[in-house]
Amino acid sequence: MKIKIISCLKDNYSYLIIDEESNIACVIDPSEADPIIKYIEKTQIKLKFILNTHHHYDHVGGNLKLKEKYGASIVGYKGDKERIPGIDILVDDQEIWIHKNFEAKIIHIPGHTLGHICFYFHKNNSVFTGDTLFSLGCGRIFEGTYKQMFDSLMKLKKLPINTKVFCGHEYTLQNSKFCTVHDKNNTNLKNKISDIKIKLNAELPTIPSTIKDELECNIFIRTNNLETFSKLRDLKDNF
Ligand code: ZN
Ligand code: FE
Repeated sequence: MKIKIISCLKDNYSYLIIDEESNIACVIDPSEADPIIKYIEKTQIKLKFILNTHHHYDHVGGNLKLKEKYGASIVGYKGDKERIPGIDILVDDQEIWIHKNFEAKIIHIPGHTLGHICFYFHKNNSVFTGDTLFSLGCGRIFEGTYKQMFDSLMKLKKLPINTKVFCGHEYTLQNSKFCTVHDKNNTNLKNKISDIKIKLNAELPTIPSTIKDELECNIFIRTNNLETFSKLRDLKDNF
């Protein structure tokens, strides 16, 4: 199984998960269709599924064009069936979605939106977190409560520490500045920032991160206290 990172729009990432045995692929959160089509045409893979973490335009913008062109089926949270364009397969919290070698556990992680889910490809040690957990940050709370977002991050924290984290945006450097202000003496964070800068200077994504790195460096999941989390989230909104 190979994961290919596709840059979309200004700072979004879509991800192609490719089963090299069958040449079948899924795409996570296609912000727009064209960069995905470009890669598919170059490699002759068959796009079978579109998996959406939530309904925002920068995560579903390519749904209909890709569905029409490749006949791909769209998988999304059942609670968002009215909001995810072209949705075909409704999934629920804790369900395991399986197609041949693809196997993802669905975890409902509301807060950024009420219907936000992540796809945890447990056999591949990879989780696709959309706009809930970013590297060194977390999403804005648009629809849910602080408690919902906090609980959602707690669920992600419990994944095995070697799990790779693939999130929806390249916000890592900007996020790191906020973490530094509130966690000045964190050596792991300092090391992570050097690593981020090396990647960005080479025009590479800072993604994937890992649950281990996030536990060590991400101020939003380092706290186990809802009140502290809520304060940090407010401060970040005005940072
Ligand atoms: Zn979003
Ligand atoms: Fe987004």
